[in-house]
Amino acid sequence: MGNTPDMPDSRPGDYPSNDRDAQRALDAWPGGPETVVDLDAIAHNVRILRDHAGDAAVMAVVKADGYNHGAVAVGKAALAAGAAELGVTSIDEAVALREAGITAPILSWLNDSSADYAAAIAADIEIGVSTVSQLRAVEAAVRSTGRAATVTLKVDTGLNRNGLSTVEYPQALAELRALVDEQAVRFRAIFSHLACGDEPEHPTNDLQRDRFLDAIAAAKEHGLEPELVHLANSPATLTRPDLAFDMVRPGIAVYGLSPVPELGDFGLRPAMTFQARVVQIKRVAAGEGISYGHTWIAPRDTTVALIPAGYADGVFRPLSGRFEVWLGGARRPNVGRVCMDQFVVDLGDNAADVREGDVAIMFGGGDGEPRAEEWAARLDTINYEVVCSPRGRSIRRYAGGAG
Ligand SMILES: *Cc1c(COP(=O)(O)O)cnc(C)c1O
Repeated sequence: MGNTPDMPDSRPGDYPSNDRDAQRALDAWPGGPETVVDLDAIAHNVRILRDHAGDAAVMAVVKADGYNHGAVAVGKAALAAGAAELGVTSIDEAVALREAGITAPILSWLNDSSADYAAAIAADIEIGVSTVSQLRAVEAAVRSTGRAATVTLKVDTGLNRNGLSTVEYPQALAELRALVDEQAVRFRAIFSHLACGDEPEHPTNDLQRDRFLDAIAAAKEHGLEPELVHLANSPATLTRPDLAFDMVRPGIAVYGLSPVPELGDFGLRPAMTFQARVVQIKRVAAGEGISYGHTWIAPRDTTVALIPAGYADGVFRPLSGRFEVWLGGARRPNVGRVCMDQFVVDLGDNAADVREGDVAIMFGGGDGEPRAEEWAARLDTINYEVVCSPRGRSIRRYAGGAG
């Protein structure tokens, strides 16, 4: 396979993650869809976030396999660029990072009381606790393993998702205090998550800050002094320095996508390029319909290119006729319906610039290339969902960094 100009070819291997089948998939379907993740962009974005964070540390959030960019590779690149810690939802995700050789602090914050806390303790994972029953499950794991757990309290300050409610909070503090006193638990931090961080001026941000400060004060009244406290996600890191506290927890911005597209790109660089290679080129006469249902009829004789990626791979069918690819130095419109594993683009009068095997970029970060935000706007969703969509036969490769 050739290379796209600014992305040196790299093979998976250094970063196992979800990429174990990548070589086999490449061999089986060489022109098929792939994401190329630029680890230099990850490093660049982490440096921007550090600048915004001031004295606060940066926890890079790598849940959902690093927002579908590869948690291990992104985690290593982020730490090398100055992130201090990593954050994930499940214990499984956290343990996988440890097994990949990452020694930095890792916080896991979305587990129920049946989770494998013994595994978390054994792997030195910081456990985010959101209910009293979870704290008791952690305690049981401490008793069974004979090792102390590191616990962080997740408090609900208004998102009303996971996190300790005000009803449970006093009980949790009382039980935690007892565990800390007998050195069964190391109390690490208190954190909370914003509901409206992407609207920097929303009054809920200030309400949540006030409730967060109250929660910290209540812990101190119970004799529980957190080592650090943290509240800010990507948008707050970039727009609300007053909410940085001791650490910020950016996710989407690490991947180079703006958490508040209306406010610009903050100098971030998209790390993911979603692409596939032209598998066939053909002439189509005026009046011929293209793809299922003939929703597009060629208005003139034209040349079309077939791209082997479809909705099974993360190219949303509702984008049919509403997106473009970067191909042969220009944007080319999709025509007709997106199918399960292929779609067609119209090359019009500039067909000579395109050959079988050329890379068609569905979204990326380079000049002229379509952006994840364009898909998001057309699909009435957010860039987060767009980068999480490549899947199925889509393989992942890395460029830059150690890849
Ligand atoms: C996902 C998540 C983040 C990161 O959010 P972004 O908007 O991607 O920056 C931070 N903290 C918690 C608790 C999260 O669940």
